[in-house]
Amino acid sequence: MNSFNRSYREKRQYLFDINKFNLIDFDFNGLKKRVYHNVNFSIFSDDYCNADCEFCVAQLRFESRKQMYKKHKISDDYEYLQRLDKVLAIIRPLNPSISITGGEPTKCSRIVDILDLVKKHGFRKRTITTNGSGLLDNIRGKTVLEHLINSGFVHLNISRAHYNDQINQNIMKFENNQYCSNKELSYIIKYALKRGLRPRLSCLLLKAGINNIHEIMNYLDFYNELGIDNVIFRELMDYDMDNMINTEKKAYCIENKIKLNEIWGEFDKYPDRFVPQLNILGYYYYVEIYKYKSIDCVSESADLIKLYEEKEKHKDIVYEMVFHPNGNLNGSWVDNEDVLLRYE
Ligand code: SF4
Repeated sequence: MNSFNRSYREKRQYLFDINKFNLIDFDFNGLKKRVYHNVNFSIFSDDYCNADCEFCVAQLRFESRKQMYKKHKISDDYEYLQRLDKVLAIIRPLNPSISITGGEPTKCSRIVDILDLVKKHGFRKRTITTNGSGLLDNIRGKTVLEHLINSGFVHLNISRAHYNDQINQNIMKFENNQYCSNKELSYIIKYALKRGLRPRLSCLLLKAGINNIHEIMNYLDFYNELGIDNVIFRELMDYDMDNMINTEKKAYCIENKIKLNEIWGEFDKYPDRFVPQLNILGYYYYVEIYKYKSIDCVSESADLIKLYEEKEKHKDIVYEMVFHPNGNLNGSWVDNEDVLLRYE
């Protein structure tokens, strides 16, 4: 395990060096690239979501690049799945970790077929990121949660901005009360843990939500009571605000940002409660991990401007792979940037 080095907080912009990592030569149908050895492959199930978070990262990744979020997508389920099957077969030799995301993947009509394809190709470490609202929906005689377990998923990331149901609903704005309450979450957590699927809660720090160390402790204690042993707190990502075309979301992000540097300064004052474990420098993110009681308390900041600077310096390197609803495989979360395999 690495040591915990607090100086990374200030110097993190300058320390990351991709050339210190193993890179794998790979040919994407004639496009020769070097791929980060621990690469993640994200499957974007659909852009539809039944919540309406002002801070939605999926949307802001497009809108901070002067692009609209709603893009062309393959509307026919069979065609989408055929294409995904083909892309999975091509990238299988890279043995990436897999994560399914959206939109809201548990509300996507293709979700069970996507899980079947992932299982068929046999990827290591399988994760889904969800707001939780469709986990107990019944599809073909089983809940989505059961399908995930049967498909060998090991990580269940559930986004939740607050431990109080009403405040969480005010922030995430679910349509038609399609909402995963704490009562349902309690059931999901126990069911998943018994069957080898580890739930993790993901909380975006916001002035309107969890906004200081005391609220962080309240959040951790509340969900620890329900069986959670792993929580990630994220800082609102840094975007290129000059290029942001969604002025409403831009104002929300500026207004609501809670800075992790200040929270970490607070953690330092309570070394018996927040015991430092590890810090990690990524190519555009920085992570500090603490032990709080028996909980892994992860905290992450990320800078999208840094991501583009890093990729500009190393155009031949693939840092991550994303399968988009339009059938493209990209090295980017934006579906017309850094195309590795274009779907014609
Ligand atoms: S639940 Fe996730 S995908 Fe849906 S709007 Fe909120 S942040 Fe975006």
